[in-house]
Amino acid sequence: MHAVRNLRLCTKDCVCLFICPTGATNTETGQIDFDKCLDGCRLCVDACPSGAIYLVSSTYPKPQTTEDAVAERLFALANSKAAQEDLARSIAHGSDDPALRQICKVVEMSSRIIAEDLWRESGYIIAQSDAAEQLVEAMLAEYGAEEGFPVEAVQAFLNGRR
Ligand code: SF4
Ligand code: SF4
Repeated sequence: MHAVRNLRLCTKDCVCLFICPTGATNTETGQIDFDKCLDGCRLCVDACPSGAIYLVSSTYPKPQTTEDAVAERLFALANSKAAQEDLARSIAHGSDDPALRQICKVVEMSSRIIAEDLWRESGYIIAQSDAAEQLVEAMLAEYGAEEGFPVEAVQAFLNGRR
């Protein structure tokens, strides 16, 4: 187990900084340092007055596989929702009508939420899934040489799966 901090709940009173025996809670990013966390000793969890720290499992079981035919249809539907999101955004930006802009904003946001759900159901944003690994490998092959592409992070992710 490891401790994680929900930054939205953290009220920055810093009890966790004093109670953690390893300094894992004291980081530049605000997140808890997994490498220093003592397998979830939970001193910080119990001490935090805001309930901002909780424990998560260090490893997760592989999710059930989605049949290829189902994943393909989910992925195609997700792509169509992404296209609807783009269309709604471009209509909103090009319109002077406040009511139309408002409606397009709602369509944009709802399309995005539905697309994210569909991608998750088709296994593309679940880190432990084979689909996610194949997607990341394809992105590395296509964009790996481009400036700003996080090659090291991607390779660490792939190494962690093997
Ligand atoms: S003890 Fe809780 S509220 Fe205080 S800094 Fe730590 S996480 Fe934030
Ligand atoms: S669980 Fe223990 S070791 Fe890990 S961050 Fe909290 S106090 Fe530190």
